[in-house]
Amino acid sequence: MRIAALLGLFGAISAASILVSAARAGIEPVSPDFARAGDEAAGILASYIQIDTTNPPGNERRGAEHLAGVLRGNGIEASLFDTAPGRACVYARLKGTGAKRPVILLNHIDVVPARAEDWRHAPFSGEVHDGELWGRGALDMKGMGVAELEAMLLLKRSGKELDRDVIFLATPDEEVGGTAGANIFIDRHQDLIGDAEYLINEGFHIDRGGDGKPECWGVDVSEKSVLWLKVAARGPAGHASMPIENAATNELVRALDRIVNAPPEPHVLPAVREYFREVSKTQSGPRQAAYADIDAAVKDPGMLRELMQDKLRSSMLLNTISLTVLQGGYKTNVIPAEASAELDCRLLPGVRKEDFVSHVEKLAGSPAVKVSVLDWLTTDASPYDTDLFKAIKTVAAQETPGVPVVPLVVPWFTDSHWFRALGITCYGFEPFEIDPEHLATLHGKDERIPLVELTKGIRRLYRVLDLLCSHAS
Ligand SMILES: [Zn+2]
Repeated sequence: MRIAALLGLFGAISAASILVSAARAGIEPVSPDFARAGDEAAGILASYIQIDTTNPPGNERRGAEHLAGVLRGNGIEASLFDTAPGRACVYARLKGTGAKRPVILLNHIDVVPARAEDWRHAPFSGEVHDGELWGRGALDMKGMGVAELEAMLLLKRSGKELDRDVIFLATPDEEVGGTAGANIFIDRHQDLIGDAEYLINEGFHIDRGGDGKPECWGVDVSEKSVLWLKVAARGPAGHASMPIENAATNELVRALDRIVNAPPEPHVLPAVREYFREVSKTQSGPRQAAYADIDAAVKDPGMLRELMQDKLRSSMLLNTISLTVLQGGYKTNVIPAEASAELDCRLLPGVRKEDFVSHVEKLAGSPAVKVSVLDWLTTDASPYDTDLFKAIKTVAAQETPGVPVVPLVVPWFTDSHWFRALGITCYGFEPFEIDPEHLATLHGKDERIPLVELTKGIRRLYRVLDLLCSHAS
């Protein structure tokens, strides 16, 4: 079913005008109709998914025009800022009293490629099947972008006086690093967002276990640094009929063996300790005990091996190295003078590039092998003793009593780092309950969002913003 047509039913004319006039007339604002907001958002999202913003090349301007059109249709001024031909950001600001500094709702317009033949329903259809809205970007992250937009519309319609401005910012180019997106926007228009205190972006979600119950609300407070290394070996060249013991290829293989098979050296950051302690409350058996005292668990070799089975959770305890590219040789009977490899290393916050390079050099352990840096991206950790974190906890306690809210250090990299560099407290927080099956569709096939989660996500985000922007917080 196509539900784009629903969009026409809402937009400029809606119950909103009634709420706004009620507020102006001094009548107590009423709570939004979240079911209706969910339907409205589903229509906006379906049309948004139908706009193919696959990056490369992106062509995000059409997506930006769609979002700006919805904002303008609801009486919110929205500006487009071009970052490259066919690529643009959307910026809109809901004014508050200015008693507190603004909060930014950040999202990216671009999506990763999708191979239509792999999907059960066309990836740019925006169709609804069995209560789920299908399409590339449904979760990463057009769905979240629309939830942010819808929450902003609801705040506007509520007529409430806000203590701080709420800024909506949608950017192109996140999926390939954001240099033609958030980076350019900040370069040219920092004055439009530099006064912000908080930012909400993609990052983590409400984790739903295999039994369908929510286990924790994950709030990504920091991301691991990305360090890409080249490991190159040089040695004498020669005819392959007479092997050379210290040939570049041999040196490289031995060095890589030492690097890749080095024993893990876990390190427990304070936020990660708190994460495990909180999550332990929803576990049972040996895992519960291990999570409750993660410092002791990582010192027990057997338990550490067990922990390493969970790739996501163990990534928060370790600097990791993945061997990704191997190059060397051009003919079977020629020993080449050079061979090289590339490593994708993800480092815990606070680990310095220089220190990790010398660690890898030591592991390589050969003067014939040189380690050089190809790329380095790093970000600070955001504090989590904040009004925004407290607001999320309050809403979590109302929505899913007993389910903890936990700080996380995620192993991937988002646009948040551009904004953390400005001193803004950034959280990756998506208020949707996602199970492992749906999580696997991000950057994979059959990406889709359950409509019930879209509606709940809007309600949760609205409530968080309502608390954060009210006099009480
Ligand atoms: Zn994303």
